[in-house]
Amino acid sequence: MQNIKGAIDHFKQHQTYPATKEELAKECNELSDFSAEDKQWFMKNLPEGSRVLFDGIPRKMEQAESFDALMVKLGRDFTGVVIELDETVAIQRLTTRRICEGCKAVYPAEYTKKACEACGGKLVIRNDDANMESIQNRLKAYREETVPVVAHYKNLGKIIEVDGTPAIETVTHVLVETLDPVFLR
Ligand SMILES: [Zn+2]
Repeated sequence: MQNIKGAIDHFKQHQTYPATKEELAKECNELSDFSAEDKQWFMKNLPEGSRVLFDGIPRKMEQAESFDALMVKLGRDFTGVVIELDETVAIQRLTTRRICEGCKAVYPAEYTKKACEACGGKLVIRNDDANMESIQNRLKAYREETVPVVAHYKNLGKIIEVDGTPAIETVTHVLVETLDPVFLR
């Protein structure tokens, strides 16, 4: 997401959850699926008393089970958002996107400037994006490991699907519009 700061600021303004930052951080520290780096990021970025947005998890059934158990334990409800994208479009985007060496912001092919808008860093193609085998492996992992997770939450009525085909700005707008009622619930 290009306007990640805007999106985070937007989410921060919304109503608070019952669990405190300490409670959430403690629970997340006990999750083996979180890397040390993830935990550090979480501790640093989790705002006091705010609602939380997890990006890219759970993506395996085992993670979904720990996640569900954690939500039950904390007495918190959740909604999953799945950005649906045709594999051909996903491959086309992966092979043409560039990433800032400095702040790791992601830029689609439509952004033709050489430097990052946010920090002026150099934009490069990520090694594993340039590699078709790596892309195929990631898509295979998605089909085999993540699709069952989506099905699990769909059965529970906890999934909102968003079409990822339009331009980033449109998808971002739809995401924010979709999440507003969820965050205000
Ligand atoms: Zn940058």
